[in-house]
Formats: sequence, structure tokens, C-alpha cells
Amino acid sequence: MDIRFFDAHCHLQLDAYKEDREAIVEQMRARGIGAIVVGVDYQTSFAAVELAREHKHLYASIGLHPNHTDEVFDQARYRALVQDPNVVAVGECGLDFFRPEKLDESVKAAQKELFRAQMALAAEADKPLIIHARPSRGTFDAYDDLIALVREAQAAHGAAVRGDVHFFVGAPEQARELAALGFTISFTAVITFARDYDAAIRGVPLASILAETDAPYVAPASRRSARNDPLAVEEVAAKIADIRGEDPEEVRTALVANTRLLFSLPA
Ligand SMILES: [Zn+2]
Repeated sequence: MDIRFFDAHCHLQLDAYKEDREAIVEQMRARGIGAIVVGVDYQTSFAAVELAREHKHLYASIGLHPNHTDEVFDQARYRALVQDPNVVAVGECGLDFFRPEKLDESVKAAQKELFRAQMALAAEADKPLIIHARPSRGTFDAYDDLIALVREAQAAHGAAVRGDVHFFVGAPEQARELAALGFTISFTAVITFARDYDAAIRGVPLASILAETDAPYVAPASRRSARNDPLAVEEVAAKIADIRGEDPEEVRTALVANTRLLFSLPA
């Protein structure tokens, strides 16, 4: 099929879609929308791989989210799963300083340890990372720590440490720093109703940007509060072009090309 849009981050495997998953996947196919289905723990990672096996326009990412502290990271189990040809990335993994009820140094240290382990796994498998980074309220703290950890991992493993920083909510200079480290940043439909990220979107090269939905979360302005789905990536791509003041068709094709390049997807 001819891919016209790529949703670089969605969770189609979740129960939110248990009634109509196949209908949405078929609508995506009809409209030329491919997607990376992202796991947040072992069970959802496994389900992502199964979904990607069934559909040519879907790919899987496997990893353990920093908020899923009930699961102990079993490197061997993830290492076995990462070999599957439908797995194109490791994640979502990273740092979340927003969600923990009590954020102290031991919580941060545990998150960093878990993230380091997944960066090492990604480098070993030579697959990119899908990174979640959410700062504590009113700050950009998680991005400073993320940048430091990425530098440390690149010093140890080289350029094999690469990936996408999803749902970017950092500062424009942090976006530029991540782009300089070879990472892309991706934006959700939040940009259709919040203007906070316009400077970051304009401040990096188009080659450093991907479009995503993080569906079922954050529906676009056209249908706020409803469950989101990957079809909304069309609106995200159009809004990125609008914010940058660039030709929508050129931006659309560039966003698809950027996604293919990062995740080594066949043309
Ligand atoms: Zn997500």
C-alpha cells in the first residue's frame, strides 16, 4: 500500500480499541496511514508485536514505561522479543518526573537505571529508541536528565543510540540539543489546540520532526475529549506545516520519509 502518513506513536493494542480495532486498522489502510504500535510493559509489547504480524502497515515497539513500576524489567524476555522482525524500536522508555506521587532521588535513580538498561538493549539490537520524557510541573527537568543520559549512552555505545523523543513538551533549546544528538522529536494533536510548542516546531530542521497521535490519548481540537485514533495523524501533519509556514505536501512527504529513515522501514 502507498503510505501517505505515518503515526510514529500509538497504542492500538490497548483495550480502548477492543470493540473496533479491526475497523480502525482497515480505515488506516484505506487512507494510507501506517503506524508504530508502542508497548508500555511486557504484555502490551507482546500484543503490539502480534498486531504488527497481522498487518503490513503496522510495526511494533517494545519496552517498559517508567510509570509501570509494578513490572520488574526482565532483560532476557525483552531481548528475545526484540529480535522479531516486526519490532522496529525499543520503548516507550525514559523518565517521568510528573506522575510519581513522591518524586525523590531514589525514584529518579530507579527510572534512570531502567532507562539505561533499555538504551543498552536498543544499541545491542541496533534499533532506535522511543523515548517518553515528562518533566515535573512547571519545569523542563526530565529533558536535562534525558540529554545527559543520552550523551552518556552515546559515549558508551556510539551512534547506535538514536531514536525519537515522543510527545515533546520540552524547551526549544532542548529540542535543538536532541536534534544535534541525532534524535527526532515528535508531536501529538496537542499542537492543534495549544501554542506552547510552536517555537520548538519552528526551531529544529524538518528532518528532525515526526508526527504521532499517542492514541487513544489526546484527540485533536476537532474532536476533543473523544477517544483518539491514528487517523488524527493527518491533522497533526497539516498543523506542523501550518506552524512552520511550509507547503503541506512537502511536509507530509518529509514526515513519512523521516519515519522510514529512523525505523528502517521498507519503502
Ligand atoms: Zn505512548
